Amino acid sequence: MTLEVKFTKLFINGDFVDAISEKTFETRDPRTGDVIGRVAEGDKEDVDLAVKAARKAFDHGKWPRMSGYERGRIMMKYADLIDQQKEELAKLECLDAGKLLALTKVVDIEGSADMLRYYAGAADKIHGETLKMAGNLHGYTLREPIGVVGHIIPWNFPSLMFFSKVSPALAAGCTMIVKPAEQTPLTALYHAFLAKEAGIPDGVINVVTGFGSTAGASIASHMDIDMVSFTGSTAVGRKIMETAAKSNLKPVSLELGGKSPIIIFDDADIDMAVDLARTATFYNKGEACIAGSRVYVQEGIYDKFVTKVTESMKSWVVGDPFDPHVHQGPQVDKAQFEKVLSYIEHGKREGATLVTGGKPCGEKGYYIEPAIFTDVEEDMLIAKDEIFGPVMSLMKFKTIEEAIEKANNTKYGLAAGVVTKDLNIANRMSRSIRAGIIWINCYLIIDRGCPFGGFKMSGFGKDSGMHALEKYLQVKSVITPIFDSPW
Ligand code: NAD
Repeated sequence: MTLEVKFTKLFINGDFVDAISEKTFETRDPRTGDVIGRVAEGDKEDVDLAVKAARKAFDHGKWPRMSGYERGRIMMKYADLIDQQKEELAKLECLDAGKLLALTKVVDIEGSADMLRYYAGAADKIHGETLKMAGNLHGYTLREPIGVVGHIIPWNFPSLMFFSKVSPALAAGCTMIVKPAEQTPLTALYHAFLAKEAGIPDGVINVVTGFGSTAGASIASHMDIDMVSFTGSTAVGRKIMETAAKSNLKPVSLELGGKSPIIIFDDADIDMAVDLARTATFYNKGEACIAGSRVYVQEGIYDKFVTKVTESMKSWVVGDPFDPHVHQGPQVDKAQFEKVLSYIEHGKREGATLVTGGKPCGEKGYYIEPAIFTDVEEDMLIAKDEIFGPVMSLMKFKTIEEAIEKANNTKYGLAAGVVTKDLNIANRMSRSIRAGIIWINCYLIIDRGCPFGGFKMSGFGKDSGMHALEKYLQVKSVITPIFDSPW
């Protein structure tokens, strides 16, 4: 598979430009480790330029001032352009991130276009309130765009993350700087090109490719950025919040890591449960913040479940993500590949039993056989840490009370799954688990209309749904007396 990489420069004020330092960095194909291309390495000075452009577009430009309807119309056109380039965008995404082509086309690229359409439809429905106040006072509220937004995004869903941030911010009338992850910078630059084609004015969307400690940190600390919307690890989220507090006290929204439980009760349809647990843990090679990698199975079906899930992995194909028969592609890069393998080794050393997989595979590239551990204890690292790879930890429980306690025994709170036919168990679990999304008899279902975001150290502030739009708006109250009115 060869593909021409068309866009490799920073996108600032409507133009593709080199980094001021003229530095570039490599982006690699995780199937082979080979270099796909070199991309401009933005740093503080480039972020400054991008912020200047976004500031001008916000303070003096058309985008925040045009009607919501007109913004929505342009966003619809943008979505259509993404659909038209679906094949190429999906291939680029897979080449950069090792994702499965067939799924990426639908989930990531069509999903991105639909995300834009959802918020395009909301752009002309942003209303304030009127307030009848005491005496002769008349009050009303305006919901105004928050200003210049910095979006910092990770590498596991590069396009979906781009559009889950950019779409509501565009609808709100904000202008923005996006910093994609250094592992996967390519599709963000393509999306910037399509934004211009769609008629989004210069300076509204700027993309600065580069590293987190330089370009990313400059966004978090910038005095002229009004808000930062971040998706990534909990450790970096903490830094972003500190930096934002130490600079201009800009609000932040943080979508962070997870270690989500999936809890399977004795009465569950066991085949469905096996399927859900597999998808929950191994989808996108385990590189999903919502991965359900802590699998708790009630004691009555535990042994049968272990046999079935292990058996089911025999038909699981690891290989080239461009091949439609493959279930799992390579980890995103060497660092991630080594990190996952070291967790697997750690699990073995801690005394867990590796019942299948867990070895590197293939001649080259970053492929790992999906691993399933049994005899996992709650305090083992593989049960506590976000591995972000294809590693399932299977654990047993007896009662619903124990299941609730174990599910909540984590610093994270992003998602959880419950598999049972008993409605009351499902409802009790849903109320008791402290996490942002609970899936009952399903897993990994996301929808642009459904709020997505964590509890506890998985962050705060939602992506998706109308809640995400609120992040990019601020409320202004206006009060005036009305003279000579009997009302
Ligand atoms: P990461 O935190 O290392 O990097 C994320 C982004 O932050 C990248 O663009 C990176 O360049 C940037 N960054 C790194 N250091 C920075 C700094 N000091 N200042 C500013 N920016 C900085 O995360 P990752 O390895 O790219 O992604 C994996 C993590 O993302 C996992 O923890 C995963 O759970 C999380 N994630 C969460 C969600 C969610 O919605 N909750 C979704 C996807 C991924």
